[in-house]
Amino acid sequence: MRVLLIEDEERLVASLRDGLRTAGITTTHARTGREGLAAALEGDHDLVILDIGLPDQEGFTVLRRLRAAGSDVPVIILTARTSAEDTVRGLERGADDYMAKPFSFDELLARIRLRARRPEDAPVDSTLTVGRCTFDPAARELTCDGEPIPLSPRELQLAQLLMERADGVVTRAEALDAVWGSAARENVLDVYIRYLRTRLGADAIETVRGVGYRFRG
Ligand code: CA
Repeated sequence: MRVLLIEDEERLVASLRDGLRTAGITTTHARTGREGLAAALEGDHDLVILDIGLPDQEGFTVLRRLRAAGSDVPVIILTARTSAEDTVRGLERGADDYMAKPFSFDELLARIRLRARRPEDAPVDSTLTVGRCTFDPAARELTCDGEPIPLSPRELQLAQLLMERADGVVTRAEALDAVWGSAARENVLDVYIRYLRTRLGADAIETVRGVGYRFRG
């Protein structure tokens, strides 16, 4: 299952990504309404989680534009405002469900599973293959040339992130944010990249100078 998360609160994004990943759900992330709308219209997502208080525009505007563009992707809105009026406004504009912050992760997960376009138990091939390597999110296992690669949870998380985004470049900031959270020291990423290269082969991860990394497999 693929979920698009449109939310600007970094801590919440990091914890949701971690939680959803553990539940076998892949997330793409956008920080602003503009990026979010573009991602929602381009991507093949099973569900969108949409914050109302975004830096550039209200989530309601994103929702209206998304529906106006003909997208019927299920949307769960996240709102810090608990007023019934906001809820009604969201549902009238085409949201499928809403969660008032702060919310319990388990409850959100239950609603995602209920609302998502593709039911959780549908036979979906969720494995990711890039080059010689395949990642199986359900088994939390990375294999390259058919050989399982023993990795720690963080190493796996980093490898998964790089593989999910192998069609582009993962910036250093994105990798740090997604795997370690905003308090991370930057050199921790160098250490982990070096370790993954030792395990997977020096050419498995390309350095894109001044930007970040690309997984080659
Ligand atoms: Ca916000």
